[in-house]
Amino acid sequence: MKRGYTLQKNEVEAILPYSQETLLSKVEAKLKPKRFEHVKRVADTAVSLAAKYGADTSRAWIAGIVHDYAKQLPDAAFKQVIADQKLDPDLLSYGNGIWHGEVGVYFIEKDLQIHDAAILSAVAKHTVGADEMSDLDQIIFIADFIEPGRDFPGVDEARTAAQTSLKAGVSYELTATMAFLIEQRQPIYPKTLTSYNAWVNR
Ligand code: GDP
Ligand code: FE
Ligand code: FE
Repeated sequence: MKRGYTLQKNEVEAILPYSQETLLSKVEAKLKPKRFEHVKRVADTAVSLAAKYGADTSRAWIAGIVHDYAKQLPDAAFKQVIADQKLDPDLLSYGNGIWHGEVGVYFIEKDLQIHDAAILSAVAKHTVGADEMSDLDQIIFIADFIEPGRDFPGVDEARTAAQTSLKAGVSYELTATMAFLIEQRQPIYPKTLTSYNAWVNR
């Protein structure tokens, strides 16, 4: 998806305690090169969707850049946070795939000093969704799935759905994710199922 929209550097930096470039280098330092390229594509895709649907483009960019910040942290770091912060012990039955969003926001606040509630919400929900999702939550959820580097059966339908409406995009993605997890005989995280139920025919 072409950006076709110029991000306002001063608007982005009003939300951050440092420059746009500093954010990029902090995130780059924590991710493998392929993952860093992915988050930049997610940020660009999120900016395009935010411009199309009238959402906050600066927060869309920042949330895209940080959404997978915790992807390469060791399991032990997550287990520590789950225990220290008294998070739902059911989380321990899953792994990084579930933790890096919902628990990852803790590392984003601590390491990146980003405390913006709308951005943290979008990151927390980016993997499994939620019953109620703001436009920014929906944009990050969709952008992660359809960024131009994604190539899987159904991705073009997902891109078309995202151009129809945000709720069509979220609904398509949750349905495809549920089908994929079942096909792979993977356990469904309860929130993935409740998100699916909430969005399937919305
Ligand atoms: P990525 O971080 O850019 O690779 O994308 P996501 O954050 O969307 O997904 C991370 C992983 O979580 C993927 O491998 C998904 O298949 C997986 N995942 C999403 N929902 C569930 C779930 O309910 N159960 C399990 N076991 N895995 C899930
Ligand atoms: Fe992710
Ligand atoms: Fe991602």
